[in-house]
Amino acid sequence: MDDLAALARVSAELGSNRLLVQAAGGNTSVKDDGVLWVKASGRWLSKALDEPIFAALDLPRLTRAIALADPACETCDAFLRDDLTASGLRPSVETTLHAGLPQRFVLHVHCVETISNAILEDGAARVAPLLDGLKWQWVPYTRPGFPLFRTITPGADVYVFANHGLVVAADTLEAAVALLAIVGRRLARPLQTAPARSARGVERAGYRFADAPALTLHGARLAAAGSFYPDHLVFLGSGAATIDEVVGSPPVILAPGFPPLVREDLSPAQLAMAECLGDVAARLAPDDRPRYFTAREEHDLVHWDAEKYRLTLPGAE
Ligand SMILES: [Zn+2]
Repeated sequence: MDDLAALARVSAELGSNRLLVQAAGGNTSVKDDGVLWVKASGRWLSKALDEPIFAALDLPRLTRAIALADPACETCDAFLRDDLTASGLRPSVETTLHAGLPQRFVLHVHCVETISNAILEDGAARVAPLLDGLKWQWVPYTRPGFPLFRTITPGADVYVFANHGLVVAADTLEAAVALLAIVGRRLARPLQTAPARSARGVERAGYRFADAPALTLHGARLAAAGSFYPDHLVFLGSGAATIDEVVGSPPVILAPGFPPLVREDLSPAQLAMAECLGDVAARLAPDDRPRYFTAREEHDLVHWDAEKYRLTLPGAE
């Protein structure tokens, strides 16, 4: 199918841009002739041209189930078209979002520029004038998956998910990609400059600096104080340690003036999330007030079966 091949090409591109997608985050889809092709859970968009990453679902049955709020929509496993799906693939946790939006193509990314606005207490008010003229919606934080889909109102072209990321939808792939670029440009925040400091006392055995911008004093402070978005929590744990208060060997240590320090044994997914934290923190201004996950939100994410499944996949640990 030409559309699926084109989607795979675009998915590989998006997945290779760490300012849009980190590790197995993000997902893309196309609807064709009663079939929803959506990225499979735990697969990397960056590998879209190397291996099968799209699961096929029976769209009419799934659409009816969504309308009935059928509990089977939580995993969507029941709607898989086994005849079309490569073995071992399970539908993305965001499958209902992809099925429920009417547009043919849906792209969901963890766009750093979007996230650096969407994690702020006043994010909705900041974003509103920047997205003026687009059909867009601010979506207050809700646990990903079916609950998140049920909080949105289908009909917009752009959705900004608080403490999470961005969705664009269009009937052509070209239009969806163009929309992604427009939103990314409009929500772009300047990189804050960190003061140069001596690395003396910062370098640690078993750690190295991530390939990320140096942290400002306020960026390190804000990033250490809690968790901004789901994949950070799932892959790196709650918040992050600062260099002054390290206990044990945390996966990431934040030191102002330097990129995040990462433990040398981190998985590729953890490393991608550490770089993402550096990319987001570098865009935070001193007077920004982030909204962190509450203890309840963290608990719900960590104990969610879909996330436990994702962590069992090769490369996703
Ligand atoms: Zn997401």
